[in-house]
Amino acid sequence: MKANPGERSIRERMAPGVLSQDGFLGTDGRSLQEIVAADRAELERAGVTPDEVADVIDGLHAAADRGLETPCPACDGRVSVEEIEVMGRIPCPFGCGYRAHKAVLRVHVAGRVFELTPLHAHLIREHGFFQGRGAAFRLEPADAIALVRLCRTASSGATD
Ligand SMILES: [Zn+2]
Repeated sequence: MKANPGERSIRERMAPGVLSQDGFLGTDGRSLQEIVAADRAELERAGVTPDEVADVIDGLHAAADRGLETPCPACDGRVSVEEIEVMGRIPCPFGCGYRAHKAVLRVHVAGRVFELTPLHAHLIREHGFFQGRGAAFRLEPADAIALVRLCRTASSGATD
């Protein structure tokens, strides 16, 4: 696969300490295209779209905002989320001009806890990027798929 001419500068912005303390790529040696393609394929096999994952994260973010930093139920109470506010904004490492609120969303679901950020929704929706393997904030597609399925069944009975 031919390397994207912009990949080098994107990778530089994704390095630890540039835009975020831990960076976006972890120990992943694959090209960005390979990372994105592998995760997209896993989502496709499960019948889940990046938009659905991003919508769930946006919904969790909105729920967490309403909860004012206390654990707040989302997805019909099947998921609870609390927001740990970090001051400021973080620009998208792909250089598209988007800036997200800097915050950590701590998501409690089915006895597990994982941490997302508002930037995840943008990275997944616009760039199909779940972050590299070993990255502090990589969202495993399997976890994203489980979350979408949980929230799908919760919203199927919703009346709004
Ligand atoms: Zn972007």
